[in-house]
Amino acid sequence: MWQIKNLLLKLANNCIDFLFPSSCPLCGAPVSVHGELCADCWASFNWISNPKCTKCGYPFPANLDLGLNPICPNCASGKCPLDMIRSACVYDGVSRETVLPFKHGGRIKYSNFMSRAMMWSMRDMELKPDIIIPVPLAWRRLRHRGYNQATLLARPISKAMNVKMDLDSIRRIYRPDMGHKNAVQRAENIRGVFKVSRPDRIRGKKILLVDDVMTTGATFAELRRVLMKAGAVSVYGVVFCRVVRVI
Ligand SMILES: [Zn+2]
Ligand SMILES: [Zn+2]
Repeated sequence: MWQIKNLLLKLANNCIDFLFPSSCPLCGAPVSVHGELCADCWASFNWISNPKCTKCGYPFPANLDLGLNPICPNCASGKCPLDMIRSACVYDGVSRETVLPFKHGGRIKYSNFMSRAMMWSMRDMELKPDIIIPVPLAWRRLRHRGYNQATLLARPISKAMNVKMDLDSIRRIYRPDMGHKNAVQRAENIRGVFKVSRPDRIRGKKILLVDDVMTTGATFAELRRVLMKAGAVSVYGVVFCRVVRVI
């Protein structure tokens, strides 16, 4: 059933593309490159650029001169959830208005510009992962939604980097939504939800995780824990947007 839902969504999105070629996916204004944002929509996002934390990509104020490889206090105290993280933009009103319909409203065509922005955010990483893993959804949620938004973002990244995407080496057990819980509650709620089903594919590998949003980093930290336990060498992550708290 969920495959049919996914297929219908793809067909609907293709029909819209056919009827309105080369229009901004967010506002419908004409654009010269298919799937790209118009200048106004592009300018409305809070894109992350330098200076930022070399490890987790946390954006620092633009007027700060922090030297070549600045590190944020969180990473300096060893609390970075992964070996390295990049995010295309800050989670705010605009990115939330993009991510919610992308995740829950079937706007799967947003994956084009979102994944391109994510690749752009990784340009300074010099990353050569062995496999790319979209953060898994529990089967029950996948069946309900019809698609995993992280897989839609990971697919073009996998193609552009020429790195295999792995969809079945790690599984997620269903747990009710985390809602607005704090960092400690989120970490407790996520513990034990991921199971590595194919450790042979994880052992000795450099892994790039892909997701749409990073909130507290608890999901990434838990994934890294189980992947490292299964023998991964390093675990990196890229998201479209991340929550930025004042630190
Ligand atoms: Zn637009
Ligand atoms: Zn950092």
